[in-house]
Amino acid sequence: MHSKWRPSGTIKVWDDIVNNYVGVEGVEVRARRWFTTHRGIANASGSYSCDGTFRRHANYSIDWERYNFALQDGWLNGATYNGPKKRGNWDLNLKDDKQEYYATIFRAAHHYYYKDIKGLRRPPQNSFWKPKLRIRAYYKANSDLSGQHKASRRYLGLGSAIKIYNPQANTEDVYATVIHELAHASHWNMDKSNYNTMNDCADTFLGLSCSGDAIIAESWARGVEWELTRMVYTGYKPDYSRLRYTGVVQDMIDGIKTRFSDYYWTKNNSWVPLSRNYSDRVSGYTIRQIEDALIGQKKWNDWKNNIKNKYNNGTENNLHETFNYWNAK
Ligand SMILES: [Zn+2]
Repeated sequence: MHSKWRPSGTIKVWDDIVNNYVGVEGVEVRARRWFTTHRGIANASGSYSCDGTFRRHANYSIDWERYNFALQDGWLNGATYNGPKKRGNWDLNLKDDKQEYYATIFRAAHHYYYKDIKGLRRPPQNSFWKPKLRIRAYYKANSDLSGQHKASRRYLGLGSAIKIYNPQANTEDVYATVIHELAHASHWNMDKSNYNTMNDCADTFLGLSCSGDAIIAESWARGVEWELTRMVYTGYKPDYSRLRYTGVVQDMIDGIKTRFSDYYWTKNNSWVPLSRNYSDRVSGYTIRQIEDALIGQKKWNDWKNNIKNKYNNGTENNLHETFNYWNAK
């Protein structure tokens, strides 16, 4: 008779910023034999231990999903990793392939859904009448976009709400892109009617009015990207552009400084090089205050005025300079 053993081990992924393997926190490992499945969730260092024992070998696997979100590697295919059939521990170090990419996307989504996010709202939750949020991971380069969020895709039940491209990007850029797209999903979830007027402007087939300012949606997502990605990669700096992917959120939160930016955005979706700077004299807002002030807003100056009216901040009279700088060539 074989003695009992408990499936356990460590799941790690290569991180080219840390230059080492890091734990895939939150990933659920399954060990199955016939009709019995035992599960274990990895901690921050990647260690897991399943909730039951076997006497004989079992099949290890990972589904890249949790209750609230799932990665997709195809139209209807969940992203998975098929592990070994064995007796004893299973340790995994993922590097240089599709599975490294999935694990990095998973880490960022797990952060926004389950870890400390400085008081921000969580992205759309799973419930019996709503599907879990699906993130399609495209294992291919796309020079036009790194990620995309279309609420309508999920709303209409047509597939994945979020698409992520460019596995060749470094770990922190993939991570930041996932945070950015989830910030859009969360914004949509918080204030659907206003979000839809600003973000789906290109989707003429939906007949949307485009009465809102896309600069708000993209500036907000850039701000969350900056705030949350730095919790893991302290040196992370997003690329900002005036008129679209602006640094307005960062400028409202961090200290007084001279702000430089090298690009503005044009209507035909391109970055035009033109360096400008200004004196940022706003500081001390929190990311949650800025999120709360977003509710009900779809115009750039209305968002600014709402921030000014809702809170007492000693630098509020300088908000107009910050908003003007970012909303001009
Ligand atoms: Zn965006």
